[in-house]
Amino acid sequence: NPSASAYHPIDDACWKRGDKTPYSAFARTLELIEETSGRLKTIEILSNYFRSVIVLSPADLLPSVYLCLNQLAPAYEGIEFGVADQNLMKAVAQCTGRTLAQIKADVQEVGDLGIVAENSRSNQRTMFQPPPLTVSNVYSKLKEIAQMTGPTSLTKKLDKIQTLFVACRNAEAKYFIRSLAGKLRIGLAEQSVLQALALACAMTPPEQDYPPEILNASKKMSSDRFKEKYDEIALTLKTTYCECPNYNLIIPVLLEDGIKALPSKCKLTPGIPLKPMLAHPTKGVQEVLTRFEGLKFTCEWKYDGERAQIHVADNGQVNIYSRNQENNTTKYPDIIKRFKNTRGDQVKNCILDCEAVAWDREKKQILPFQILSTRKRKDANEEDIKVQVCVFMFDLLYLNDEPLVKETFAKRRELLKEHFKEVEGEWKFANSLDTTTMEEVEVFLDESVKGNCEGLMVKTLEKEATYEIAKRSRNWLKLKKDYLDGLGDTLDVVVIGGYIGKGKRTGTYGGFLLACYDQENEEYQSICKIGTGFKEEELENYTKFFKDHVIPQVKSYYRFDSSHEPDHWFEPIQVWEIKCADISLSPVHRAAIGIVDPEKGLSLRFPRFIRIREDKSCEQATSAQDVADMYNNQEQIKNKTSASKTAE
Ligand code: ATP
Repeated sequence: NPSASAYHPIDDACWKRGDKTPYSAFARTLELIEETSGRLKTIEILSNYFRSVIVLSPADLLPSVYLCLNQLAPAYEGIEFGVADQNLMKAVAQCTGRTLAQIKADVQEVGDLGIVAENSRSNQRTMFQPPPLTVSNVYSKLKEIAQMTGPTSLTKKLDKIQTLFVACRNAEAKYFIRSLAGKLRIGLAEQSVLQALALACAMTPPEQDYPPEILNASKKMSSDRFKEKYDEIALTLKTTYCECPNYNLIIPVLLEDGIKALPSKCKLTPGIPLKPMLAHPTKGVQEVLTRFEGLKFTCEWKYDGERAQIHVADNGQVNIYSRNQENNTTKYPDIIKRFKNTRGDQVKNCILDCEAVAWDREKKQILPFQILSTRKRKDANEEDIKVQVCVFMFDLLYLNDEPLVKETFAKRRELLKEHFKEVEGEWKFANSLDTTTMEEVEVFLDESVKGNCEGLMVKTLEKEATYEIAKRSRNWLKLKKDYLDGLGDTLDVVVIGGYIGKGKRTGTYGGFLLACYDQENEEYQSICKIGTGFKEEELENYTKFFKDHVIPQVKSYYRFDSSHEPDHWFEPIQVWEIKCADISLSPVHRAAIGIVDPEKGLSLRFPRFIRIREDKSCEQATSAQDVADMYNNQEQIKNKTSASKTAE
């Protein structure tokens, strides 16, 4: 594999300038990534591919980025692949002259329809080889397939899939089918794609004309200077993407005007959901007071519902987005209809940050999250809605053409209250208290729990009080009543394996292996086994669910000890919220290995299942660094560390 500096985007590419990027070049890149384990190496391989695209066929950069993220459009457009495995198997069978039964048997054995598709194709002789596939063509056809609806759409989809599939050569078949199935299985996270793009822009600035003379920015610079430049580009790209997570807007600006133009051209915009600010866990009022010493702050109730970013665009269109930038507008027709009740006359456009909470109209009280989660997720009819919601507004991020994220929270809150109003049972401002005394915070915390809230969010008001997009910021602290004595928070972990149950649990899984996500190395690290906290019925449901996600071989990016090997491995597909007594060093688990101790990992003691986190993807699970921070923040560990410091 060529290294970034040695790679030549023209000479080392397999296509010529002005030609369309062959899909084979893309598939080969994914194959190299799949064969590689280091994160830096992966980024380098991808950036080399991007560099060739930038120089040879820049129009293919956008489809290339989408294809390697396995997306077709920004999340909020809701365009998903979603072709059921059964149908894909049928298509593969028909195109390769094999029977559905043969394909199914192979998938059972190999565990991956992509590989079966590739093998089936390579064993097949074709009379006429259709012309080679291109990246742009595959992308646009995939998009057409995803957007087909209606009664005959399945037949039409299968026709299109088959036309493309017969044109696939070698590894193309594998990745084409995996794309359609909705999982590329190469462990390439969003952040790595962004970094690869940044590296490509640093090496081969996309706005330049190529050639004058070629083409390797780092060669002309000292390595320190290059690193500085790369860091600057990576930061600009990341910040832009957080404010405006839409490659349809970012990539054209990159190509036309270069990275420097991004901050002015791709800004916070109503109608484009931004990545929200998140809070740091704390374990007690004292910790909050210590962190915020000398700063003005406010305490707000922490409502247990669903985050709702409400956008009003210039054309008056109102949209509601989730914590993960999905479009929830059709889930909440009731909120949309009532928006006029809270919106002041002066509001032309805006972005509000809120929590939608299940609400008992008769008793005028907040209902638990579990009730909210029974609402239909999409296309709800207002007449059919049984669970009412009240929206608690806590921040205003944009108002009348002005972004407010750089303003203080005190100012944003003032503008929020000036331009929106409360309506009984529909719209409320988050209940808040500006105080600095421990006693008052404690009383307010108690009240929040009695009011069916999770605890408090404590936020800086004036200094260090901007809205930090996409950050888990120390300017927002969460204080959850339940966990004050323990860890300060629950953990959100990924289910990576299952142990077959015995005795009463025969026929279902009796336990599961859980993992945190290490962002640094992009791997899932085992953190504990869990077998308690489930009702029998739940175990049956989870068994059914995970049986569809069993993989025959453990992923190269799962870290675990062979003594804890589960009976079945699963795709990383679901996040569970877990409560535990504490976190301890472990000779067998691998969470945060190398952070707290060079050889030992961390594990959770007495883990209990709380709920599924539908709103989190596996890469958003609690990170290895978060687990290490929670471990170090435990009283007994803090005491030990300070005792050993004193001894030194
Ligand atoms: P969890 O929800 O499990 O605590 P998380 O990672 O989803 O974890 P946190 O950073 O812990 O999010 O908490 C912030 C969440 O709390 C927000 O995403 C929002 O949905 C919710 N929330 C409820 N009340 C408030 C409030 N007053 N201010 C800010 N966020 C609030």
